[in-house]
Amino acid sequence: MQIAILAGGVGGSRFVRGVRHGYPDAELTVVVNTADDIMLHGLHISPDLDTMMYSLGGGIDAERGWGRSEETWRTSAELAAYGVEPSWFGLGDLDLATHLVRTQMLDAGYPLSAVTQALCTRWLHDSDHLRLLPMTDDRVETHIVIDDPATSAESGGPPSDAAERRQRAVHFQEYWVKLHAEPEARQVLLVGIDTARPAPGVIEAINAADLVLIAPSNPVVSIGPVLAVPGIGAAVRGTRAPVIGFSGIIGGAPVLGMAHRLLPAIGVQTDAESVGRHYGSRRDGGVLDAWIVDNADAAAVPRLTEAGLAAGSTDLIMSEPAATAEFIQHGVKLACE
Ligand code: GDP
Ligand code: CA
Repeated sequence: MQIAILAGGVGGSRFVRGVRHGYPDAELTVVVNTADDIMLHGLHISPDLDTMMYSLGGGIDAERGWGRSEETWRTSAELAAYGVEPSWFGLGDLDLATHLVRTQMLDAGYPLSAVTQALCTRWLHDSDHLRLLPMTDDRVETHIVIDDPATSAESGGPPSDAAERRQRAVHFQEYWVKLHAEPEARQVLLVGIDTARPAPGVIEAINAADLVLIAPSNPVVSIGPVLAVPGIGAAVRGTRAPVIGFSGIIGGAPVLGMAHRLLPAIGVQTDAESVGRHYGSRRDGGVLDAWIVDNADAAAVPRLTEAGLAAGSTDLIMSEPAATAEFIQHGVKLACE
């Protein structure tokens, strides 16, 4: 059995651990968001790929949910002592080794997919039947348009000029980590997406899959970019496999993180039903055959079903892989009925 999974970082990796638990003999291909990637201190950082790799390879800091276990922060402290910016992005000493290897290999001309494979040889083994693919080898960055307090008060220049200056785009990491998603997100830009190509193996994995699963990852900045890579959304819409999505929004709020700060910027309300409708049924040009929501959102199920999207409710808290596996199997059963 072959399973293709679309995912982001922390929520995505918890989900994949559940898939692995529920389908121990399946071949898993995880297509991971790379639009969070950022260059810092000359290093190429791929937060979601690293979270996924550490998490599945047993090297994650389980409490934090990201970064290496037994991490130390001496290099960051040294950089701060030099007054080097940015200081808002946590770079652990052990984690830095990953970024050094990645950056050197990219500089030597290897594509990100090959670099990912090389890094994963340390963490994953053939017996894991698990492959991590970046969504693309091309550079794509999520930028968030926010109001710029520095210029919004200015009144000089013609009005059109002033209107343009009132907003600025910041890298997703700056919005998320430095600004704590506090400024209103006006727009989400996926810089580079139009010319990005799916990484080698992505389309093949979706086409060959017996199941395609969309993790309860952030719909805007994790799943959104993956589906927006030209060709990936079409492959999901066209695959012969059932496509099942799981809601990361429970009772009108993200289980973890700040997805509610970004959903309004793409015109989607922060509730499980709205996110399901946003992904849409494959019968209506969307990507889903079934959408699974938490029991807290059971009231949405008949409305979704009536609107043509098969839906079901169950307990969607990923407390441990066995619990996650249970709700995944529930979703698969629903989609196959
Ligand atoms: P990131 O890339 O590290 O931000 O992580 P993801 O995008 O993969 O996952 C973040 C999303 O996972 C958030 O929007 C959460 O609501 C969702 N999430 C986290 N834990 C759980 C859980 O236990 N159950 C469900 N259903 N969703 C979760
Ligand atoms: Ca992420």
